[in-house]
Amino acid sequence: METGFSQKLDTLRNTAEVVVDQVIAPMAEAVDRDYRWPDHSMRALAATGLLGLQVPVALGGHGQGLLALTAIAEVIGRACPSSALCFGMHCVGTAVMAAKATPYQQEHYLRPIAEGKHITTLALSESGTGAHFYLPQTSLRSEGLHFIVNGTKRFVTNGGHADSYVVSTTVGDDEASVGDFSCLVVDKDTPGMTWLEQWQGFGMRGNSARGLQFDNAAVLKKNLLGEQGDQVWYVFEVVAPYFLMAMAGTYLGIAQAALDAAGTHLRSRHYDHSGSSLRDVDILQTRYADMWIAVEKSRNLIYEAARRGDLGHPDALAFILACKADAGDTAVFLANEAMTICGGAAYRENSRVAQLLRDARASHVMSPTTDMLKVWTGRTLLGLPLL
Ligand SMILES: Cc1cc2nc3c(=O)[nH]c(=O)nc-3n(C[C@H](O)[C@H](O)[C@H](O)COP(=O)(O)OP(=O)(O)OC[C@H]3O[C@@H](n4cnc5c(N)ncnc54)[C@H](O)[C@@H]3O)c2cc1C
Repeated sequence: METGFSQKLDTLRNTAEVVVDQVIAPMAEAVDRDYRWPDHSMRALAATGLLGLQVPVALGGHGQGLLALTAIAEVIGRACPSSALCFGMHCVGTAVMAAKATPYQQEHYLRPIAEGKHITTLALSESGTGAHFYLPQTSLRSEGLHFIVNGTKRFVTNGGHADSYVVSTTVGDDEASVGDFSCLVVDKDTPGMTWLEQWQGFGMRGNSARGLQFDNAAVLKKNLLGEQGDQVWYVFEVVAPYFLMAMAGTYLGIAQAALDAAGTHLRSRHYDHSGSSLRDVDILQTRYADMWIAVEKSRNLIYEAARRGDLGHPDALAFILACKADAGDTAVFLANEAMTICGGAAYRENSRVAQLLRDARASHVMSPTTDMLKVWTGRTLLGLPLL
């Protein structure tokens, strides 16, 4: 496939394709069927160095940006969306750590990530503020060398499996304004952490998106990312672009997989009574063409967004906000169409296409959600503040 990527990115993408073919794709059905966290995927990605995608080169990583994350998430998402989500959230967490890492954080987290010895993830969402992930209520108080953390996070991807969690909290001082918050890296074995319910999602069944409760968890102050209260900078400069592009790549992969499934079925289904093939039916040719057009349009928007983001283009924000919303709409549309085209073969419990449709639906509720992103895109284009 002609990608137009740099040689380095082509090499990384080829490596991801090999891991997908040999390790990730063969297990995708079991991941979905058994709600299995994709340990095999994360280990294989670690072994090839891909977990260090966002770690600076000086610390042993690949020093890549949004384009690489998008491209690799697409490759993984086409085979196993849960694995792409777990990989994507690890990469977003890594990018958040790398943005303003202290020497301690570089050695303690980023170098081990590049060596494939450490998995991280983001723990932002809470039930009190729901989709408004940028308004944490988890509290922070200072006590000697530690911050004391109290509160409950929900939907923590890689929950219970990651080595560290990037956790958002209130600022911890009385002068903070609403919306100011801090981010800490919390190690997996910190006393005071309790994992809540096992993940039983409608889709994305392998991602282990669990609740996490903090009861007076003591976190070393040197695990604070940046300065107390400067997280609005993190949200717009790092969390949003990396999260949105990781997810856009994942949902583009789902859309492509649905197109693949529909194409395979159209070509292979033959009728005994007439000897004709499903691909000879003109309404299905039209549906298939609409699917292909939607995927290619979405792919162009997504890669354009990633390139603009990496270049710091002044118009990048609207592209980045729009592309995860578009990828979600496209993935749901494509999976839904594939359900129709693939007929009864698809409409059975845990069919490949049914899995894609369930996985695609996560796009509309993972925050920033599709509706929120469309509002924010419009506001950006009209010169209004996002919030
Ligand atoms: C598979 C999966 C993985 C996840 N992984 C993570 C993770 O790794 N880390 C993490 O921190 N969180 C994660 N989340 C949480 C996710 O990002 C959302 O925070 C969560 O799904 C919101 O759920 P809620 O029911 O509280 O939404 P609610 O806040 O109740 O919202 C319900 C609906 O109302 C809409 N809505 C609310 N307010 C507005 C508004 N102002 N404008 C437009 N629409 C609005 C929302 O878009 C949503 O569709 C994950 C969620 C899922 C499903």
